[in-house]
Amino acid sequence: MTGQTSISQSEVDSRYKKLKSEGQGGGYSLNPDIEFTKELVKGLLANEKRYGYMACPCRLSALPLPVWRCRVCGYLCARDDPPELCPICKAKKERFERFI
Ligand SMILES: [Zn+2]
Repeated sequence: MTGQTSISQSEVDSRYKKLKSEGQGGGYSLNPDIEFTKELVKGLLANEKRYGYMACPCRLSALPLPVWRCRVCGYLCARDDPPELCPICKAKKERFERFI
């Protein structure tokens, strides 16, 4: 990913805690690798800041689904399959990789 968006550690921590509590409420837990999950959260926050919205807000609050990452621009979304086209850079589905 290029261009670092500044995300503070406290933002990551608070978002992580929120996701975690929501996840547990839903009967599943987040990836046990906390550092890894926090990196993901950081990516989500970066998307939110860069694009003004959080990727797939209806789904990402709890992460029950696989997360896909656009290898071109770093866009993340949680859904069963990657989107046909990246909504940010228009890269094709094939350019997405499984992130979680
Ligand atoms: Zn993209």
